[in-house]
Amino acid sequence: MDGILIVMSGFSGAGKGTLLHRLLDDYEDFAFSVSMTTRAPREGEVDGRDYFFVDKEKFEETIRNGGLYEHAQYCGNYYGTPKAYVDEQLKKGKSVILDIEVQGAMQIKEKFPDTLMVFVTPPSIAVLRKRLEGRGTETAEVINKRIDRAKEEVNWMDKYEYIIINDDLDTAVKEMHDIILAQRYQTKRLGTFIDEIKTELKNI
Ligand code: ADP
Ligand code: 5GP
Repeated sequence: MDGILIVMSGFSGAGKGTLLHRLLDDYEDFAFSVSMTTRAPREGEVDGRDYFFVDKEKFEETIRNGGLYEHAQYCGNYYGTPKAYVDEQLKKGKSVILDIEVQGAMQIKEKFPDTLMVFVTPPSIAVLRKRLEGRGTETAEVINKRIDRAKEEVNWMDKYEYIIINDDLDTAVKEMHDIILAQRYQTKRLGTFIDEIKTELKNI
């Protein structure tokens, strides 16, 4: 069965990264699309695992060379999806998850209309602020910028097919997995299997 492309967007601090790591730990057959960014690494982030950390020149060169499926600017930095890894994983039959913001998400949906579009949100903005503060990776100024950005992102929520309210983490992980499974077993993705069954029946 071919792998599917999954876009996961959501306000900064909603829990996308946390959800994603749980999905990758708990289930096989998923691959995380490692993005390229000009943002500085956070403590504990590893180049090539969390992001490909590059400078502006390298990022712009990659855009010019057509190496990205999409890219966008977010709070003063570039972020983009390198093509090669996504292609390689899909070919292997893995479902590839892209943790990307709304502008990039819309570019992916236009290029690949079958993409599963999921938006992750906390139960409230008060909880979002607490999570961002609790994560402790950004200054108060950057946290405010990210919450400001949520005011724009909220207008794109209705473009997504599913919304995950990440309140209890275990529940959210299960919901995300169930949604992906349902997408995988859509009739239109099982054409080859249907053909095999038809051939078997014909030959009886
Ligand atoms: P994002 O990738 O969307 O910016 P993170 O995954 O970094 O968000 O999560 C932001 C913070 O919220 C982290 O400190 C994380 O541990 C915490 N968090 C994520 N999901 C939950 C949850 N369901 N309940 C409580 N805290 C959570
Ligand atoms: P962070 O700096 O918190 O890791 O990410 C900031 C935002 O950039 C998040 O909304 C995240 O989903 C988004 N993002 C991460 N990688 C990409 C990417 O490759 N393309 C786009 N368009 N957004 C990305």
